[in-house]
Amino acid sequence: MPSKAFLRQANESLVMNLIRENPGISRLEIANHSKLSPTAITMITARLVRGGLLREEKLPPTTQLGRRPTALYVEAKSRLAIGVEINPFDAQVVLAELNGRTVEEIDVPANTDADAMLAEIHGAILQLIEKSHAPILGVGVSVPGILEPSTGKVIAATNLHWRNIEAIAALRRGIDLPFYYDNNSNLSALAEWWFAAPRLSNFVFVTFRGGIGAGVIAGGHLQEGASRRMGEFGHMTVEIDGRQCLCGSQGCWEEYASDRAMVRAYNELGGPADNAPEIVRLARQGDATALRVIEQTADSIALGFGNIVVALNPEAIIVDDFVAAGWDLFEPLIWKNLRGRRQELWLAGLRLVPSEHASDSSRLGAVALVLSKYFRESGPLG
Ligand SMILES: [Zn+2]
Repeated sequence: MPSKAFLRQANESLVMNLIRENPGISRLEIANHSKLSPTAITMITARLVRGGLLREEKLPPTTQLGRRPTALYVEAKSRLAIGVEINPFDAQVVLAELNGRTVEEIDVPANTDADAMLAEIHGAILQLIEKSHAPILGVGVSVPGILEPSTGKVIAATNLHWRNIEAIAALRRGIDLPFYYDNNSNLSALAEWWFAAPRLSNFVFVTFRGGIGAGVIAGGHLQEGASRRMGEFGHMTVEIDGRQCLCGSQGCWEEYASDRAMVRAYNELGGPADNAPEIVRLARQGDATALRVIEQTADSIALGFGNIVVALNPEAIIVDDFVAAGWDLFEPLIWKNLRGRRQELWLAGLRLVPSEHASDSSRLGAVALVLSKYFRESGPLG
């Protein structure tokens, strides 16, 4: 039988989460949304208001004799989360409030010397702990590449040239806070889900930063697979005996549809360009080669989307990075190719959308990871 303390925490967590999802909700509405009694709700909310986690606002009376209902809100500043995003270009360490708003940020430059980079990130986490004005719930870490789920060891982060690096062990040294971690694309998907209103329950977030990764939300949950490696669509084969990929296989999707594929194609046609956003800019200025390369890349993106659509039947595919930045150019080309490739029954109701969070998505996802544990599992006062 669950202990009294466990039940108390679970009930507080339930109430906090209802208020987070429905700002301004009243005690009566909480009673309608849960199986808790009005007395229990009054006690729980009073405790949370005293603890500074909730704020209440009196509303005008609904009837002349009626009592004035009270609107309840989560006090965003009452607890904080630390989010760390390590990506191929640099790392950001942020301190964020319960609504995801960043209040402090420290940037760390990328370093192929993993120990040096992790030591700098560790120092940044300590600085933010020092600066925080409220209890910190935990540290969420977003890592590019393949992770060992039980330890947080980075097995391979190709773009950083990291192999078998004990990243999480190095970051948590001497810090008495819970640490949570996942790869960049899963956390981008989590951010899109956690901070969106209204929420989508079935979508795929395809990230185009340094290769192609994807996070899958199905039935309102982040899907992880047996070894937490689901969604590596960048390495699905789109051409038999095709181009050699960094992963060791041939003909992977990211060799045709990613930033590096686009830069290579542009440079093979005369170039020069250093990165995908530059090619998008050139295309907007009317550069014929850039427009041709974008068309070719859009066709390759649509080929992969056609596979994702038949495999997962999502309501939306969300994109980031250079595809989101050049969405006005990419969108019509992708749809045209996709319609030529798949029957309408697969595409009815499907939305293709650029991420609202653009390049901040995995950092926000690292924060969302801490918040999702707090609101759903550990209980607000735990
Ligand atoms: Zn590959």
